[in-house]
Amino acid sequence: MRILVTGGAGFIGSHLVDRLLTDGHDVVVIDDCSTGREENLSRWLEAGHPRLRFLRASMLDETVLASAMPSMDLCYHLAAAVGVAHVVEDPLWAILTNTRGTELVLQHAAAHKVRVVFASTSEIYGESDQIPFREDGPRVLGPTWIARWSYSSSKAVDEHLCFAYAQRGLDVAIVRYFNVFGRRLDPKGYGSVIARFLSQALAGQPLTVHGDGKQSRCFTHVSEAVEATVRAATLPQALGEVVNVGSAFETTINDLARTVLDVSGSQGSIEHISYDEAYGKGFADTRRRVPDVSKAERLLGWRAEIELREGLRDLLAERRHVGSEG
Ligand code: UDP
Repeated sequence: MRILVTGGAGFIGSHLVDRLLTDGHDVVVIDDCSTGREENLSRWLEAGHPRLRFLRASMLDETVLASAMPSMDLCYHLAAAVGVAHVVEDPLWAILTNTRGTELVLQHAAAHKVRVVFASTSEIYGESDQIPFREDGPRVLGPTWIARWSYSSSKAVDEHLCFAYAQRGLDVAIVRYFNVFGRRLDPKGYGSVIARFLSQALAGQPLTVHGDGKQSRCFTHVSEAVEATVRAATLPQALGEVVNVGSAFETTINDLARTVLDVSGSQGSIEHISYDEAYGKGFADTRRRVPDVSKAERLLGWRAEIELREGLRDLLAERRHVGSEG
């Protein structure tokens, strides 16, 4: 197939591109490298891979989309402003990239009858206390002056757009990722507490746990997230559906910090800092974020199995390798 991957130089996107090229597809990537990195695709780009085209462009550059979309069979739309720290720093950029960018992708995909898989997020559920989060469960968000919720809202508008276009005939499936981690996470930790803790542990610095550290997440390995995403694109029963893509295993941030210290063999300590110190005043966090995984199992025949420790060991091996290359 000829496949467009927006955000294909990003963390999840580049793993998806690896998979699609390995499976023999032709791939076009659009990425502005705002949070993605061209190096994520270097193993293909340096070899001048004939089935990969890389277009460095913003999602808001409609001419690029207009020229790429007509010849496509499928589009994975992953390009987005991501990472709580980024969103809090520049909410306007995040809101516009996510809503306008997605609208353009859906508009051009619909015009050329290209199937779309939309990468959404577990942030959608916000502060809901109905654990585990079911796809048809409520979304509970704080006030609009809390910048963090703009990310959830922008992705929810995107999901609404998907359904609105589906009503007009577009084939679309939606995956909601839960704290995906693995190789190529930005080491500065913008997108993930795991990347940040590993960097801190390797630098011998204290691991900065926000708040009391009893908040929890379900960390999902990128290889398994990619598998679920590909299934959502190819299984007919996924069309018109939203599916949680997340591990069922819940970990508190305190436990994560202890596990990172243990796996990395670091002598470092754990330091608790307030949310205000970490993100400035007026930040709100999600206390527990746990997916209901039954729909993914039923619809996609998929379940996350890679354990946190195993994923951390692999990520550590990558960091040590990169470190040894200087
Ligand atoms: N967190 C932390 N220390 C850090 C970075 C994040 O304790 O250095 C916490 C953060 O406050 C949240 C959890 O780890 O409770 C997960 O944060 P992340 O930024 O990975 O993404 P989120 O799940 O909030 O979207």
